[in-house]
Amino acid sequence: MSPDSSHSDSLQRFIFENSPVRGNIVRLNQTFNTALQHQNCPPALRKALGELMAAAALLAATLKMQGALVLQIQGNGALKLLVVECTAELTLRATAKWTENLIKDDLADTDFADSNFAELVGDGQFVITLDPKDGGQGYQGIVQLEGNSIAEVLQNYMQRSEQIETRIWLACDNQTAAGMLLQKLPDFQSTDLPEQDADLWERTGYLANTMRQDELLHVPAEDLLLRLFHEETVRLFDAQPVKFHCTCSRTSVGSMLRLLGAPEVTDILEDNGDVEVHCDFCNAAYVFDKVDVEQLFSADIMMPSTNSKH
Ligand SMILES: [Zn+2]
Repeated sequence: MSPDSSHSDSLQRFIFENSPVRGNIVRLNQTFNTALQHQNCPPALRKALGELMAAAALLAATLKMQGALVLQIQGNGALKLLVVECTAELTLRATAKWTENLIKDDLADTDFADSNFAELVGDGQFVITLDPKDGGQGYQGIVQLEGNSIAEVLQNYMQRSEQIETRIWLACDNQTAAGMLLQKLPDFQSTDLPEQDADLWERTGYLANTMRQDELLHVPAEDLLLRLFHEETVRLFDAQPVKFHCTCSRTSVGSMLRLLGAPEVTDILEDNGDVEVHCDFCNAAYVFDKVDVEQLFSADIMMPSTNSKH
């Protein structure tokens, strides 16, 4: 195990030669820590958010998409909201909201996220959004949360809604988040397959289930695949870099303030002297003073109704 490999965040695709089974492996260290550095996230939620980040990268890599994939878990337990966005370029950002006073001791326990996911979330929903980011038609799916872990929730969703056989393994040790995905392509022509490969999908799933969390987190992808699937012919592709990037901007915050409306924003301005907005994802501060706010709503001043006064 080389310590360096666990610190360069990357996603690696692989295929089982001449078969409908493909997969990818992702490992996030710097990306995970950068995304969470401004959020004083309790350990149990840190783990859940890390796993959701790994999952978002794994799924984004399987989609032929532009724009961004957004995964959300909404709950009414201690966990209120987890949001992870992964772009087609494999940049990630993430944020969490939680209730401090609910099962507070449990939130300090990283193992709690594994054993009591249902309790952590309560009654919840899983929301998956494909945002093309070009103004085109997006996609949103909302389902009841079903499963005892983030991996199970996603697996159930993929099975029911996308009808692609998908298996996902996730792990997060509070410093590194990692995941592996296996997928069986539904439209593969299986006529050329050798007989012994009929159960390849079951076999690979069974073998991957023997993987320990620390292996998923720390063993280099090449060694891990060899360890798990040494009797199969696996082709591993070059690693693609994954990194943290927040897409917030002064323009987008300005648009949000315009949506809020002039009366509301003017109230904030009068109470505080200026309007300060912090990005939920990266904590960047955007400050709008009196002049900025006037400029923001200056389009309204130019409206005919205002001009007709003289
Ligand atoms: Zn931001």
